[in-house]
Amino acid sequence: MIEQFVPQEICLKCQGCCRFREENSVWAPCLLDEEVQALLEKENLPACTISLNKRINPVANPEGEGFICPFLNRQNQCRIYSCRPFECQLYPFLINLRNKKVLLTVDLNCPYVKENLKSKEFKDYSEYLAAFLDSPEQKKILHENPQLLVAYEEVSEIIELNIEDETK
Ligand code: SF4
Ligand code: SF4
Repeated sequence: MIEQFVPQEICLKCQGCCRFREENSVWAPCLLDEEVQALLEKENLPACTISLNKRINPVANPEGEGFICPFLNRQNQCRIYSCRPFECQLYPFLINLRNKKVLLTVDLNCPYVKENLKSKEFKDYSEYLAAFLDSPEQKKILHENPQLLVAYEEVSEIIELNIEDETK
């Protein structure tokens, strides 16, 4: 599991995550190949929960407008938190593809990020995350899962990542 930047108690009071304006939102979590099958089997889910491009398919929000992740419960908690997807563990940080470069970026729409962007805590965490993603195992994972490389908007660049698989 990736260490978290945003304290859990902050996220539980925020409605910024796990909700989407559109059903086929680019912000819906994208899964690693190994997570697709594991999730379908563990949760005994219908295959339609995951799209062909390996994203969790949001469902209509039963309590309001827009769409939500099917794993979000009424208490604003993730039902699969202890085994949530890699991309959910990473957020508000994102792997971004820009001009053929793979970048570690952060979403400026997260209020906690906005407040703490200039802090030492943010700098320290960014260094931790960049080092974590630079390990041979993580590079292999990113190399083998190009579906995670997305051109997200409204993000701030932190560092370019090298995702060449060094384990071969
Ligand atoms: S937007 Fe930021 S503070 Fe809000 S739930 Fe998501 S990660 Fe937590
Ligand atoms: S899997 Fe959990 S953390 Fe990820 S979007 Fe769904 S509810 Fe949120």
